[in-house]
Amino acid sequence: MKGTVMYGPRDVRFEERPDPKIIEPTDAIIKLSAACVCGSDLWPYRGIDELKQPMPMGHEYVGIVQEVGSQVKHIKPGQFVVGSFFASDNTCEICQSGYHSSCVNRQPGAPTGAQAEYARIPLADGTLVPTPDLPPEDLIPSLLTASDVLGTGWFAADAANVKPGATVAVVGDGAVGLLGVLSAKQMGAERIIVMSRHPDRQKLALEFGATDIVTERGDEGVAHIKELTDGLGAHSVIEAVGTQEAMMQSIRAARPGGSVGFVGVLHGVEIPGWEFFFSHVHLHGGPAPVRRYLPHLIDLIWNRKINPGKVFDLTLPLEQVAEGYRAMDERRAIKALLIPS
Ligand SMILES: [Zn+2]
Repeated sequence: MKGTVMYGPRDVRFEERPDPKIIEPTDAIIKLSAACVCGSDLWPYRGIDELKQPMPMGHEYVGIVQEVGSQVKHIKPGQFVVGSFFASDNTCEICQSGYHSSCVNRQPGAPTGAQAEYARIPLADGTLVPTPDLPPEDLIPSLLTASDVLGTGWFAADAANVKPGATVAVVGDGAVGLLGVLSAKQMGAERIIVMSRHPDRQKLALEFGATDIVTERGDEGVAHIKELTDGLGAHSVIEAVGTQEAMMQSIRAARPGGSVGFVGVLHGVEIPGWEFFFSHVHLHGGPAPVRRYLPHLIDLIWNRKINPGKVFDLTLPLEQVAEGYRAMDERRAIKALLIPS
């Protein structure tokens, strides 16, 4: 089969790879129906995360089960499935409490290499959720978002304790931030303030339920959010970037007693203890336990209550994956959808 391998900064190749095989009896092999490039793939692409060796890419996936190992009981060949980027058993005490991405048997980055024709999914029964039936074609992009960006945006809103009637601020206008807007709206937020400078992203944010746009950054952006909230700050803030500036903006934009849900992969962030101590802000986040939310998100998509697939503003054949990376790196695209031939 063919799949995507990153060799170094800005060096992504679509090349011949070994066909994935069942290794553990709990594995499944799926044929990808669609794949995509994640914002987090851009960290190594830009050379910020160093690659020690060529790395098969892709951790967001939907597809049809081809084969299952001898201990897989619930997932069956022929099913259309959505999974999360951490394989988890869905049975341990940590999974039962909803933190699948810290499962005691978790396999991070699993599957490695889903920007490919086929992928091996470990712990298939715990990791994969089948849809009620084979989905109509137009639902596939939205189902794919559930695998990571939507699940992550949803967790961010949940971790930020979004409640009906709340005022929510969203820092970051990438796919996760935008789907954080959609999630906050679904959770009943009354006012959703998005920090964005890009007209196309502002437009999508408004479609997803944003009520206000703040174009300033840093302290000026925080001042504007305070101005919009009677000087108090937001009840809930979604941090979907992962930089020092974005994290401090988020903490400062939250009111005392408010919450920040952070899901941008943190890079070089140091929170000054003194300021944090006196902020009275709750901080919760990390790698999203997407698996917890999959049944609910699949249900919302299946019943056409939400249309998160709109974040894909570029569709390419899978073999043009390198162009997908370029377009996202150069911010010509919010998120690239890849269709295997
Ligand atoms: Zn577990």
